[in-house]
Order: sequence, then structure tokens, then C-alpha cells
Amino acid sequence: MLILVLNSGSSSIKFQLLSMPSGTMMCSGFVERIGNPGARFYLETTKGEYDKEQEVPGHQKGLEIIATHLTNPELGLLQPGQKISAVGHRVVHGGKFYAQTVKVTQIVKEKIKELASLAPLHNPNNLLGIEVSEQLFPEAEQVAVFDTAFHQSIPEKAYRYAIPNVFYDDHGIRVYGFHGTSHKYVSERASEYLGRIPSRMITIHLGNGCSITAIRDGKSVDHSLGFGPSNGLIMGTRSGDIDHALIFYLLERGYTAEELNQILVKESGMYGLTRLRDLRDIQSAAEKGDRNSILALDMMSYRIRKYIGAYAAAMNGLDVLVFTAGIGENSALVREQVCGEMDYLGLEIDPDKNQKAKRGICEVQSFDGRVKILIVPTNEELEIARQTYQLLK
Ligand code: ADP
Repeated sequence: MLILVLNSGSSSIKFQLLSMPSGTMMCSGFVERIGNPGARFYLETTKGEYDKEQEVPGHQKGLEIIATHLTNPELGLLQPGQKISAVGHRVVHGGKFYAQTVKVTQIVKEKIKELASLAPLHNPNNLLGIEVSEQLFPEAEQVAVFDTAFHQSIPEKAYRYAIPNVFYDDHGIRVYGFHGTSHKYVSERASEYLGRIPSRMITIHLGNGCSITAIRDGKSVDHSLGFGPSNGLIMGTRSGDIDHALIFYLLERGYTAEELNQILVKESGMYGLTRLRDLRDIQSAAEKGDRNSILALDMMSYRIRKYIGAYAAAMNGLDVLVFTAGIGENSALVREQVCGEMDYLGLEIDPDKNQKAKRGICEVQSFDGRVKILIVPTNEELEIARQTYQLLK
């Protein structure tokens, strides 16, 4: 079964074509800077790369370019008579309605639209991707895979905020959580690798966005991102946890709500502390003694350690810790800093195994460490394809 995975964002569409159930990737690529000068289409297949600057006024045109290339006989991606059976769409917000992947129906589209108030930057573009895809691939099943779905198992004591009930009842204000596709994928790969579903697992996704999930018997029971994707860990440009009093303090001093949002979402986090965007640059600067970079790395690791402690408390202990995404998979330094001084929990990293970790699933706990420490590469596109396949097979 050929499954096209689409991640339709505000100015880009990322895609992968996968053959299921093997999970073989036939091609991947993106259209970027949609609606802007310098728009670009990029496609990578086993036979080569196509990289073209071309005008892409909107998502309709962007998806048309993707569809034309996927079905171009010269590229040989589809065998004669072969069709794309399904399109799996990444949808950011499923609210309280979707704890599972679903086939797209009129009702599902209406719900995604209704939830745009909770994810204004994502849901409208995700829906646009679905609607254009319905026209371009009319014979394919359209499937929605929600970033929030995995966290629907979080119990009420953890997903509610202690604010007047009316905000929950009338406005839906609660923890929804995000990055669910990644946390689900890596926790399942970890379970497969270990040959059992661990009773108490923590998965840490460290990319540009960062989040941490407490997983009990395979189900998410707490998570650091909340109502929106800004809470918790220190991220590339987002602050993570702050005291909300500072927002009111700055509002009173003349900053507008819009400015503060921009500062906390786009100009804070590791970037706010170092003026550097890439963790590799922050690590190099720290090696050269840059005080801001050393402090930022310390702050990042300290925040993660606090959450590990909190989630170990929430689950009455810890059996497995998983690192994933760009930083989690590649930064031995961050992994070592996070796992330092946690021997009270039975968490001890082996510095040598950690340094030498290669791509793929690796175990890096020390010989005496009771908690397994795993590095598990994430693959959100494959997870979307797997869930789409499971639903349709
Ligand atoms: P996104 O959230 O955009 O998917 P990624 O998961 O690709 O992000 O992670 C991006 C982050 O991973 C960047 O901060 C980048 O610096 C970091 N990263 C990638 N490779 C390495 C590496 N070898 N060492 C340290 N950090 C890395």
C-alpha cells in the first residue's frame, strides 16, 4: 500500500511517499516559501534530487507540483497502474475529540476548523492540505493523525489548570500536549527493542521544540507542553516554564500582548540566552568559554532534570529514559548533563557509550545503572504512515 504523508504548514508542505507495511521510503521532499518570492520545490528519490525555484502562489499550486512529480512516469515512483492508496495528514490539534487517528469525513473537517482557535497557525493550513489533497487524489483515503491524540490519556488531575472551572467548561482551557506522534513512535520503538512495554518510561523530545512525556504502561500520563506549545522545557526560541506574573509586569510597563508573545515564542529560549539558533553553535561557543552558552546549556539540562524528577515522582519511579530528535539523538553533551547527578534514581549514563552512540537505537546507561537510557531516532512521517496503514488495512 502506497501512503503519502503530508505536513502542510503555513508556508511549506513537507511530504514523504512510503510503501507500507514495510515502511520503505520511496521519496521525500518539500515545497517551501509558499506565497513568497524564492519559493522552492525539492524532491529526493533513490535515483536523485530535484531542486527547483518556481512560483508557488498558494497551497493548491504547491500540492499540484508534488502530485505531478509523484505521478510522473519518468521518475518511476509509481509502477504502471499503481496508485496512492491513502494520504496521511499531520494535524496539530485534535482537541478533546480525537484520541485516535481517523478517516477524514465532513465532520472531522468541521472539527479541525472549529479547533483552529486553539491552533491558529497550524489547523487552518492542515485543513487546507486535506482539502487540496481530496481534489488531487480523489481515489485515496484521507486520514488525519493528530499531534495531541497520544496525550488524551493524561488524567484530569494532570491536564487541568487550577483556574476557575468556567475556563475549562466554556473555553476548553486545559493541557492538550503536542509532539504526540513522536513520543508515541519512540516509546513504541523502545518497547519493541526491550521486548516489553516498560511500566514507567520518560521520553524526551529535544529538537527546535522540546517536550517530555511521562508514559505509564505505554500511555501518556503527563506531558510538559500544555494548552499551547510553549510550556515546560527550554526550547530553541521558546522560554518554556516562566512565572506568568512577568507577563503582567511587562504589560504594565508598556509592552503589548503581541510583542510579549513574539518575545516568548520567537526570541527566548536558547536563542534568547545566547543569540545563537543552532545547538551545535552553542556547544562550540561553550567549549570556547562563552559564559552565556555555558549557562544556557546548564539551564536547559537543569530544567530537563527537574521534569525527570517530577515525572519519576508522578509514576512512583522510572524504568526507561528515552532521548530523541535533533538534540536528543545527536548531542552527547546534553545527554550527559541531563543524566548527571541522578544516581538517586538509579539513572547513570556511561560516558563512553554515550560519546560513541551511533545512529539507530542505542543503550547508554552504565553497568550499574538501574534505569535503561535509550537513544531512539524519531520518525514522525513513518509513524503517520503506520497509523494510516493500521486504520485502513
Ligand atoms: P525540529 O523540531 O525542527 O524537527 P530537529 O529535531 O531537527 O528540529 O532538531 C534541531 C536541533 O537539533 C537544532 O538545534 C540542531 O542544532 C540540533 N542538532 C542537530 N544535529 C546536532 C548535533 N550533531 N549535535 C548537537 N545538536 C544537533
